[in-house]
Amino acid sequence: MKVIVLGAGVIGVTTAYQLAKDGHEVTVIDRQPLAANETSFGNAGMIAPGHSYTWASPRAPGILWRSLFQRDQALRLSLRADWRMWRWCLQFLRNCTEERARVNTLRKLQLAQYAQSVLKETVAETGIEYDRNTNGILYLYRDEPSFKAGVAHMKILQDAGQEFRILDFAGVIQIDPALKAARGKLFGGLHGPTDESGDCHKFSNALAQLCASRGVTFQYETTVTGFETEGDAVRAVLTDKGRVTGDLVVMALGSYAPFLAAKLGIDLPVYPVKGYSVTVPIADRDLAPRVPGIDENFLVAYTPMGDRIRMTATAEFAGYDTAHRPEDYRTIKQVAENLFPGGADFARASYWAWLRPMTPDGPPRLGRARYRNFYLNAGAGHMGWTMSHGSARVVADLIAGRKPAIDITGMTMA
Ligand SMILES: Cc1cc2nc3c(=O)[nH]c(=O)nc-3n(C[C@H](O)[C@H](O)[C@H](O)COP(=O)(O)OP(=O)(O)OC[C@H]3O[C@@H](n4cnc5c(N)ncnc54)[C@H](O)[C@@H]3O)c2cc1C
Repeated sequence: MKVIVLGAGVIGVTTAYQLAKDGHEVTVIDRQPLAANETSFGNAGMIAPGHSYTWASPRAPGILWRSLFQRDQALRLSLRADWRMWRWCLQFLRNCTEERARVNTLRKLQLAQYAQSVLKETVAETGIEYDRNTNGILYLYRDEPSFKAGVAHMKILQDAGQEFRILDFAGVIQIDPALKAARGKLFGGLHGPTDESGDCHKFSNALAQLCASRGVTFQYETTVTGFETEGDAVRAVLTDKGRVTGDLVVMALGSYAPFLAAKLGIDLPVYPVKGYSVTVPIADRDLAPRVPGIDENFLVAYTPMGDRIRMTATAEFAGYDTAHRPEDYRTIKQVAENLFPGGADFARASYWAWLRPMTPDGPPRLGRARYRNFYLNAGAGHMGWTMSHGSARVVADLIAGRKPAIDITGMTMA
């Protein structure tokens, strides 16, 4: 079959790879000059089934409410005259019960665990180098109450088969000696030994090149503007460079997917939630972290990536604005100074911000939508790199008429 994949972020590229493996003739269309140049560019790089918690939880309404009055660094919500944001927030609030949070977290976990197994297969098949780090991830707590809450919270993932070790401060620095400078600032942590990390942008571009060498066509610098339909089928994709025809279309347009979906009468519940990231050269190997980690009190993630450290933070409702200012990175710098002082060279930092394509419940939307030959791989949210290989395989299986390897209840548009 001739399949057109819209979007060359990590979701589009992994989808193209799985479809090409199944023997389809694949064309990928993206407005950027290369793959993974939007949300997939500067993320924290964590492959973290151990962080599959859905954001919509019983604690979330209080956090959202407080964020209206405090310019909090972790979550920022300012009221905007945007009906899409209001509607998304209402849908989010409806998912904030204990039971919905449990169900959605377990759905995400299942997809994330499956995705990690597909990632391993792909790495074995392709040998792609992407600054992979398989030392696990440290989830760090600054005080005893937050540590105890973190341990209790983790049970839901542990009971579903995710591995964790509970560590006091001495245990933390055994896993990553670079954190010894944080004595007195950290209480303890959890180590997810099977979690891992790597550079999503590097991986996606290497996979795109490999796909191209196997016959996948990448049509870059081409903006998708709409569709031509006939009856129950999408006949053509319309772009600023002309019509593209195929047998089937998969949409993987990140935070911009709802606009194009709307042109087909599909109401896709995805809204952008902005995040900030900074990439800093390692200043001193002995002082730099060796194991990726998340400061759970300040919600700052850091990931060693080769000779760099990537740090990310903040969930901000700012519409489609991707601007960033120096003060947006204050907490990130403070966390670096607290946890691994002297490890990162902030004088040579590169700053970036982009938009997580979030669904209000957490899991993505996969599979056929409205038209018999139109499929979604959308709404990967804050875990798109983690879930990408699994989502891609699920969509390829659905297109092939095969039953996916995991239960996708709650991830379809039905
Ligand atoms: C600060 C931050 C930290 C994160 N950390 C992690 C992490 O540690 N682990 C993890 O798993 N996930 C993380 N994420 C989430 C992850 O980055 C996203 O879920 C993932 O990148 C989404 O991929 P995507 O392909 O759906 O979107 P994108 O990468 O945005 O790709 C969409 C593509 O569609 C193209 N496009 C859009 N509109 C059009 C159009 N009209 N015509 C043509 N092309 C178009 C764009 O150019 C883009 O290439 C993080 C995100 C942020 C912002």
